[in-house]
Amino acid sequence: MERKSGWEIWDEQTKKQAIEFCKGYKRFLSENKTERRFVRGTLDIASSCNMKPLSEIKKLKAGDSFYCTNKEKVLLLGKIGIAPLTTGCRFIVSHIDSPRLDIKTDPMYEDENICFLKTYYYGGIKKYQWLTIPLAMYGTIVFKDGTKKEIVVGEEDGEPVFNITDLLPHLGKDQEKKTIGEGFPGENLNVIIGSIPLEGKEKEKVKANILKILKDNYGIEENDLISSEVQFVPAGRMRDAGFDSSMLLGYGQDDRVCAYTSMKAFFDVDKPTYSTFCMMVDQEEIGSRGATSAQSEFFRFVMDELIEKAGLSTVDFRTIIQNSKAISADVDTVLDPNYKEVYDPKNTARLGCGVVLTKITGGRGKGHSIEPSAEYIAYIRDIFDKNKVLWQPGEIGKIEQGGGGTIATYIARYNIDTVDCGTGVLSMHAPYELTSKADVYSTYLAYRAFYSAER
Ligand code: MN
Ligand code: MN
Repeated sequence: MERKSGWEIWDEQTKKQAIEFCKGYKRFLSENKTERRFVRGTLDIASSCNMKPLSEIKKLKAGDSFYCTNKEKVLLLGKIGIAPLTTGCRFIVSHIDSPRLDIKTDPMYEDENICFLKTYYYGGIKKYQWLTIPLAMYGTIVFKDGTKKEIVVGEEDGEPVFNITDLLPHLGKDQEKKTIGEGFPGENLNVIIGSIPLEGKEKEKVKANILKILKDNYGIEENDLISSEVQFVPAGRMRDAGFDSSMLLGYGQDDRVCAYTSMKAFFDVDKPTYSTFCMMVDQEEIGSRGATSAQSEFFRFVMDELIEKAGLSTVDFRTIIQNSKAISADVDTVLDPNYKEVYDPKNTARLGCGVVLTKITGGRGKGHSIEPSAEYIAYIRDIFDKNKVLWQPGEIGKIEQGGGGTIATYIARYNIDTVDCGTGVLSMHAPYELTSKADVYSTYLAYRAFYSAER
């Protein structure tokens, strides 16, 4: 299949629209670097569109829209279409968690007059990439009485940032002989948080001073950290990249690029034929096991409530679901010219050549692939082509090189036709991931075409 760059084939107006679209994207991702913030940011838009929680709606009819949240980290937006629910719905499901560093259960200690927080890495990272860069801290601390404190440090001008050190090359003789995994142990991912001792203390004076700062500024004591969610992420905003500003460099594009574009598409398709749903889940990067993951019963409960409020009965769930179609909206890789050897060039997406349709996920012998049917792929490519969406096929890499999974499996298992389709990313899971503005915009156009399809 031939791939063409959007920058080559688009007219000036389309290129301008792509660049304009990405301004909003840049802003939203820069301001919403955690699941909770992404949900809240999206709810702000939903409220400005007069959308209500499903719980406040008694009866659902065509044209109604609503939202449901789960534990502040999962969001489902819904819009009732003109066609009866039993003719099926259109789902786009993405994930809004991204690789990062979480603090450990009992994280704070002092060593050689420096105070540290021990961390766990969340998701599959190359640990060395997270060393020496400025980190911002996002924390939600919950006190025993249930009240919460939100803390963000390191994003505003003039605010301090945090850092994890790396060994100086001058003393790297032994480190250089190790594998990358062994040379950068997870237990060394300790974030420096201070170095001034508290006067009048005998032991752990620096830690005592940090605890005093936490108490004075935020009312937090050390024991409160056990009921907290504290994440360290790369500090700073998403930036344009390249002399031509054709690309975007920033944190958390896997998978917030698909969450953002699907959410925009959802809001922009006003009166869909079929009922549309945009769902953003948590915990994908660690295997989708918990209550806020794609495997949670939350989705099923929302559907039950919706069916009841639409005047149908629970037995209609099966009819609705088997007539439905879904996109598992997650990123794929594009070919990195520095590492061509890991890709099958014929089956790898290219930067700037549009949204990636990923027929085969997993690795090796199609391990964990969901195998979308030929009929469904035909449907998808027809609606993309009819709507002039720039799209390209893609697979993650050579058969035996590795692989990756998505939440597609947790949608498909309901018996919904599902396919993976999302933006191509370079340096996936790195602190700063790189995308093409043409691909981000194409992803939006693809999701919009899917939501507005009439068949
Ligand atoms: Mn992902
Ligand atoms: Mn990922």
